[in-house]
Amino acid sequence: MFKKILIANRGEIALRVIRAAREMGIGSVAVHSTADADAMHVRMADEAICIGPPPSTQSYLSVAAIISAAEITGAEAIHPGYGFLSENANFVQALQDHGITFIGPTAEHIRVMGDKITAKDTMKKLGVPCVPGSEGGVPDLETALKVGKDIGYPVIIKATAGGGGKGMKLANSEAEMENAFRTARSEGKSNFGNDEVYIEKYLERPRHIEIQVFGDGKGGAVHLGERDCSLQRRHQKVFEEAPGPAIDEKTRAKIGKVCADAIATINYAGAGTVEFLYEDGEFYFIEMNTRLQVEHPVTEAIFGVDLVQEQINVAAGLPMSIKQDDLKINGHAIEVRINAEKVPQFTPCPGKITQYHAPGGLGVRMDSALYDGYSIPPYYDSLIAKLIVHGPDRPAALARLKRALGELIVDGIDTTTPLFHALLEEDAVLTGDYNIHWLEKWLEANT
Ligand code: ADP
Repeated sequence: MFKKILIANRGEIALRVIRAAREMGIGSVAVHSTADADAMHVRMADEAICIGPPPSTQSYLSVAAIISAAEITGAEAIHPGYGFLSENANFVQALQDHGITFIGPTAEHIRVMGDKITAKDTMKKLGVPCVPGSEGGVPDLETALKVGKDIGYPVIIKATAGGGGKGMKLANSEAEMENAFRTARSEGKSNFGNDEVYIEKYLERPRHIEIQVFGDGKGGAVHLGERDCSLQRRHQKVFEEAPGPAIDEKTRAKIGKVCADAIATINYAGAGTVEFLYEDGEFYFIEMNTRLQVEHPVTEAIFGVDLVQEQINVAAGLPMSIKQDDLKINGHAIEVRINAEKVPQFTPCPGKITQYHAPGGLGVRMDSALYDGYSIPPYYDSLIAKLIVHGPDRPAALARLKRALGELIVDGIDTTTPLFHALLEEDAVLTGDYNIHWLEKWLEANT
């Protein structure tokens, strides 16, 4: 087992990894920009090292700075968290060249799944059902119009390198195709340096259902059921739950096996998430994330598994401790993402926290890097806390969420907490009867 690992990230996810490592008796190294010198992950890690100025391109995204930090501190492995370098195949390759272990899959698997066209093609060949659409990339408007005619409007044009909801454009009719096609391409180019796009049928009322998978890199793999992440704003998740209110045991076992078998076939190592849209009882693959997801704690809650410790074990060459037959769902879990943003416009509002009180009690987990007097820097993602609740069933989890939200105090800045108080009054949320478009429509009607 490793003696020391470096965490190439910040905020709550850096704490999450430090905690997992500490329980395993593994030392932790935090890296930070000058803007994060007082951040919680720096305080909590065994060692910390500054890797550059505030902009993430010069710090958290600097491969050279991070490799130097690992070499100086003698860290044998690097956990990337999510975001930043977590799905960067060149980073993984560079680590390999320097004899440092990446806690995650191979560079090759990251490369294949990081390009959505290749990912779809690979998954299709492995027997995973996909959204109807273009065969591979769509090079020009003429081809786009032909695809639109063939599959029928509405369609969605997606940048193959896209992520975080960027580089996706809807075309409701032929008349809207030209604009949508050009915008998706230019967003792909400007955000991800790649203007290749493909086209999919736009589903009108699907749920977002994702399957958590885990592979040992040697042909062994399990699935840990699904998460329903349908409550989204601008294609970004805000509220996630497990198990999914619309998924029964048989459906779960079937799609879970398809996904576990697919990643076993390619000898995938570590945690992964196979994302689907789910409509009228059918699953349609949209993408695979080759890392730990923000919403992984809901899965941990219902299965009683520490996914980060599993990642570390597999990266160290040990077998997985989880077996499919032992994985039984216990109760229901919900996560809400609390951002430093002012509702209803969702404008970021970094600043100083004058008072912070985290909720607690049975079945409540608060993953956050906040503390009294902390100043949230303006340079990074606005996620400041994840509140995760676990109860014996969905109504109990909802009641616990309401109770826990009532205990939370974050003074000095605005947060998205009022959104969740409001959502917990809505029938659709209470009954679980929603799809990926529900929240956008609700926000339009209520703000
Ligand atoms: P990203 O990598 O940017 O997260 P995804 O492909 O995972 O992009 O899609 C994110 C979200 O966009 C989905 O959860 C869903 O809400 C919406 N979406 C993606 N593809 C479609 C589609 N074919 N029809 C309708 N909505 C879609």
